[in-house]
Amino acid sequence: MTTKGKVTGITSNLVTIEVDGPVAQNEICLIDLEGVKLMAEVIKVTGKNAFVQVYESTRGLKTGDKAEFQGYMLEATLGPGILSSNYDGLQNNLSTMKGVFLERGEYTSPLDTEKQWDFTPIAKEGDIVSAADWLGEVKEGWLPHKIMVPFSFKGKYTVKSVASAGQYRINDTIAVVTDDSGDDHNITMVQKWPVKVAITAYKEKPRPYRVMETGVRIIDTLNPIAEGGTGFIPGPFGCGKTVLQHAIAKQGEADVIIMAACGERANEVVEIFTEFPELVDPRTGRKLMERTTIICNTSNMPVAAREASVYTAMTIGEYYRAMGLKVLLLADSTSRWAQALREMSNRMEELPGADAFPVDLPAIISNFYARAGIVTLNNGKTGSVTFIGTVSPAGGNLKEPVTESTKKAARCFYALSQNRADRKRYPAVDPIDSYSKYLEYPEIIEYLQKRVESGWVDKVNKAKNIIKQGKESFEQINILGDDGVPMEYHERYWKSELIDFIILQQDAFDDIDASTPMERQEFMLTKVLEICDRKFDFDGFEECNAYFKEIINIMRQMNYSEFNSDKFKGYLEQLNNKINQQ
Ligand code: ADP
Ligand code: MG
Repeated sequence: MTTKGKVTGITSNLVTIEVDGPVAQNEICLIDLEGVKLMAEVIKVTGKNAFVQVYESTRGLKTGDKAEFQGYMLEATLGPGILSSNYDGLQNNLSTMKGVFLERGEYTSPLDTEKQWDFTPIAKEGDIVSAADWLGEVKEGWLPHKIMVPFSFKGKYTVKSVASAGQYRINDTIAVVTDDSGDDHNITMVQKWPVKVAITAYKEKPRPYRVMETGVRIIDTLNPIAEGGTGFIPGPFGCGKTVLQHAIAKQGEADVIIMAACGERANEVVEIFTEFPELVDPRTGRKLMERTTIICNTSNMPVAAREASVYTAMTIGEYYRAMGLKVLLLADSTSRWAQALREMSNRMEELPGADAFPVDLPAIISNFYARAGIVTLNNGKTGSVTFIGTVSPAGGNLKEPVTESTKKAARCFYALSQNRADRKRYPAVDPIDSYSKYLEYPEIIEYLQKRVESGWVDKVNKAKNIIKQGKESFEQINILGDDGVPMEYHERYWKSELIDFIILQQDAFDDIDASTPMERQEFMLTKVLEICDRKFDFDGFEECNAYFKEIINIMRQMNYSEFNSDKFKGYLEQLNNKINQQ
């Protein structure tokens, strides 16, 4: 028996329903508006009143309208065909939609139920399996897509049969398993999972212990992100958020890319749909879209759907992680999601926290970030979800609650600076404010000492120190004038400029400079530090300026030349001559 109810109050998308039985937090309910079923989610229950947020416009809804509670939570449909599809927050397939917008109450199937997939069995009769164990595999594009025991299965099962290799549709039975009371269960290629619940069918989730390289020097060299790690990019408009996210998506060491676009302005969403599908996958030379899924809110959907979209994206990420794949999840922007939470909380007249955001905003954000991670699967293989969200702080104020809460949850902080963007110093990541907490993890330090070289992290810290000292010197020079400070100040300033121009600044639109492999990053940082280590004896600051400008010019040419090519070696020779002159 499902619980029924009737509408007693409506405040925009917040609807109060008097219920005649039990309802659960986050349960889905359908409200009948003259035959059209509006989907809604329970966000609060007090006594006989359920407060639900409706995922559609509530125009025309009246008190007395009937609602029916469904007994399940907002779910994602998981199966082959997700990649290269575009969804809205409720996983309506935007690619198969007829018009630009769905009619109210219209929901499309997330997956193609007619498509034939080439299935290969992995498990065999008699195997003992449990949730998330691999039964077979289909090829989704060029990626192996595992068909698993549904995550909701509890305990152990014995495999009774597995389909033989061949063509199957997603709803065909590809395996039968028997539970310990002797009951059989048919397994297809699709399963459902409530998006707000983390998928935890794995053996363990250790702290991240290796780095996800991105080819972006200011990340890899100075503030590395761990595979299965978390990071966030607060970025005012025009500071390079999109360019940086695209660079990470294209170059990051990931198998699957999930892009959650919870933009508010229509142009932000259009931007993703026009630009992202055009990106070329450097690994295959084909479209990056083949291993990407975009979850985005169309602008006709109410704020509540923004919340759904980040959870749907995370759930899809966890699904691919369970297949032993490396997933990169990008969300742009999580501020819009927080604003949706704020609107709902205000409508319910809850006691507000800072800036009228809900009191539990920090907990909501940190619980979400905590779903990222690298995991060891039951079969000993690993899978990961690395999560990077952008935040658009109002007026660039990094002290606002969403930025502050995210700072507590995310381990990497890539602050885009208006000042650097204005000076065309791209990527405009502020080298002083930004950080990676992974550089303090013994596992990561050890990993980097092996991956790059022993003493690497010391070098990184040294470079950061030089940047800080350079900034202080720059301020002194500005106050006291070129002649008013000792020579060391100029030298310190130029050493930090050298690191800025050669390591930090990187041209995302240059074929060679756009992506720097780790070996090359090591070489360049080592070379730059070698110069910074030198004691100079300049005759006045003009000489110092001229000397460093020339060195910077040569090294920039190196950045634009293929690593270790004759051209590169030519510049290196020039550089060494120049260094030895002084
Ligand atoms: P946002 O998404 O934050 O509004 P964009 O990512 O669209 O900003 O960047 C704005 C502009 O800044 C780009 O069109 C480009 O001209 C420049 N830009 C940003 N990052 C880089 C980069 N790494 N290399 C070169 N140009 C960049
Ligand atoms: Mg943008």
